[in-house]
Amino acid sequence: MAINTEAYRELITQLEKTHTTLVAVSKTKPAEDIQQLYELGQKDFGENYVQELVDKSARLPGDVRWHFIGHLQSNKVKYIAPFVHLIHGVDSLKLLQEINRRAARNGRVIDVLLQVHIAEEETKFGLDEQELEAVLQDIRANPDRFSAVRVKGLMGMASFSDDRDKVRKEFRLLKQLFDRWKEQAHFSILSMGMSADYRLAVEEGSTLVRIGSLLFGERNRPVQ
Ligand SMILES: *Cc1c(COP(=O)(O)O)cnc(C)c1O
Repeated sequence: MAINTEAYRELITQLEKTHTTLVAVSKTKPAEDIQQLYELGQKDFGENYVQELVDKSARLPGDVRWHFIGHLQSNKVKYIAPFVHLIHGVDSLKLLQEINRRAARNGRVIDVLLQVHIAEEETKFGLDEQELEAVLQDIRANPDRFSAVRVKGLMGMASFSDDRDKVRKEFRLLKQLFDRWKEQAHFSILSMGMSADYRLAVEEGSTLVRIGSLLFGERNRPVQ
């Protein structure tokens, strides 16, 4: 197991030009690989599975910023609430409320992103336009119920497709939604782009890319 140091350096140089944040997606990869990238200066890491994140966070330096990028079940929020840096995939009011409850219990304010469904595939999680609006309006109408969470922006996954125009359109839609709410909701983070499509995502206005296989190699376990 080894990380691709050259790809990392190249990526960092590229992303610096547009001030795009890199989250290194380390799911299924051993702690040693994360440590290696950390020693090159990488601090933001993304994980999809709660137990794996908890185990790794205990084994790695305390200043790693852990991003939860998977589908989070309400009953598991408690395990990551003490330390998680940013939760990307919030797609219901119920989940947001549970994050708020657990954050308050830990004396923290947890930053989150709302996940928007932009791909054609049925299997992807996320809110549609109307649901997004409903969630944001609910937060605005009830600030006291959400005082321990901060919605920092949006996250989305494009279709797994070679059709670049299609992928670009999906990213563009997400950027439009981001811009529509940016002022009102004080958004600053737009999380879009993975190994296969991050260039397109950055062109379309992403502020944060989530990249795994390009840095760590292919995964042997399927993506959740
Ligand atoms: C696995 C995963 C990534 C990284 O995917 P790569 O293709 O390995 O770069 C990004 N975002 C999410 C939500 C993921 O589950």
